[in-house]
Amino acid sequence: MGEFDLIARYFTRPTPRAVLGVGDDCALLQPAPGTQLAISSDMLVEGRHFFADVDPGALGHKALAVNLSDLAACGARPLAFTLALALPRVDERWLAGFSGGLLALADAHGCELVGGDTTQGPLNICITVFGEVPVVGGQGRALLRAGARAGDDVYVSGTLGDARLALDALRGRIALPAGLLAQARARLERPTPRVALGQALRGVATAALDVSDGLLGDLGHLLGKSRVGATLDTSLAIELLASRAHPAWAARLFSLKMQLECVLAGGDDYELAFTAPASARDAVQAAARQAATPVTRIGRIDAAPGLRLVDGQGRPVAGRYASFDHFA
Ligand code: ADP
Ligand code: MG
Repeated sequence: MGEFDLIARYFTRPTPRAVLGVGDDCALLQPAPGTQLAISSDMLVEGRHFFADVDPGALGHKALAVNLSDLAACGARPLAFTLALALPRVDERWLAGFSGGLLALADAHGCELVGGDTTQGPLNICITVFGEVPVVGGQGRALLRAGARAGDDVYVSGTLGDARLALDALRGRIALPAGLLAQARARLERPTPRVALGQALRGVATAALDVSDGLLGDLGHLLGKSRVGATLDTSLAIELLASRAHPAWAARLFSLKMQLECVLAGGDDYELAFTAPASARDAVQAAARQAATPVTRIGRIDAAPGLRLVDGQGRPVAGRYASFDHFA
């Protein structure tokens, strides 16, 4: 099978929303009147972002999910994406699985594959997504990292830390009972981009971003852009680890320190972290209900820069939790 047959068979689909999809030199998109385009790229490299033997359907899902998560963080509605793919060889079983996982998630979000590039080389997947955000009164309504104010609440969507738990298990660093590993592994391999929540939070949240490298590091970016600090309650944050509620969870196996390490510094969660004034608590919960995505308040924004960890009684919690950094 040649390059063009491969594109036609696995990556060419009807694109009713795009003006022009796969097959020409450019795709053509028409953003709705009164919207701005939100654009983001993410690259996945074998051995770096995924194991060589990962299920191809899960990989296709994740490759798009991490990009949709960036749109979600900005409160954008997905529109289209392009796929740049380097493949070591043509493996039709792999291609069918990969494109199946990829396009199922694309369909679920009405996000159309409109073009890309295909080349031979070490497995590498690069996706660029395009989304729309409304412009109201000449002002774009995207959620940004800047905008958090002293006194705002700090929230996180869904659950945190389970992807890291799975990663540690798959690397043989810890042992997890089978049922628990399956649950945690689903979080690592098939993350859920919080697309509906991001859109519901427009006009409610003061700042937002998605948690891809670890909560403390990512939140640090939001605090930096907003020129504020924060205090997080670790007794609330630790409850975000979904594995704790699994029947097979044996807390004695995992120290509190390790659980906090997963929640505060584990990457690959693709949840949203965001801030909103205390006066918007009802509006935040209404947005969460509308998006059918739970959100948890875990702290507050301070005027003083820096990130402080406290326990349930407000006493300082010691410890350093480093987020993932490719070049650190
Ligand atoms: P060009 O000659 O402009 O580089 P190509 O010959 O690489 O274009 O690709 C032909 C068409 O197929 C283009 O419309 C391109 O966007 C599309 N395409 C190439 N690879 C992919 C892919 N992996 N997924 C989706 N569309 C692709
Ligand atoms: Mg061309």
